[in-house]
Amino acid sequence: MVDCLYKGPLRLDCIYVDSMLGWLARLLRIVFGLRVAYAPDLDDAELLRTECLVVTRDEEVFRARRGPALLLRTDDHVKWIAAFLSMGLPPFVKTACPICGGELVEIDCGEAGRIVGHVVYSEKCWRCISCGRVYWVGSHWRGIRSLVEAARRANVNCVHTG
Ligand SMILES: [Zn+2]
Repeated sequence: MVDCLYKGPLRLDCIYVDSMLGWLARLLRIVFGLRVAYAPDLDDAELLRTECLVVTRDEEVFRARRGPALLLRTDDHVKWIAAFLSMGLPPFVKTACPICGGELVEIDCGEAGRIVGHVVYSEKCWRCISCGRVYWVGSHWRGIRSLVEAARRANVNCVHTG
């Protein structure tokens, strides 16, 4: 079973994900710190035009693409992350705001608590310099870590096509 197909040079400096992959866009930002463009209303014409890597679940978009593209054929979210690990991307080296892709800077967790209006129990806290959202190490973060661990163990079969 082929989990994903790709073509062109797998550039990872700019990535477009199609409208079905909002979850993946957030994960790519937070786990790998990738620059990911995602808009629910992004139309196919724009996906076909961009020079960035296009990540899609749509076979037709993939086939019509001339530039670099990655087609995810599996529904398995763990394998989606495994596909990016298999490209040699190290997880948790860089990170970016999952919502807007902005840069995260570490802040004091007391300050984080004042911003969100309740006490934050965490050793590390961050604030996005673009949208101002605050993040800390909580259950959501631990969920992401275990997802990436599962992805490391997963077998993903990605095939290069012409
Ligand atoms: Zn942000």
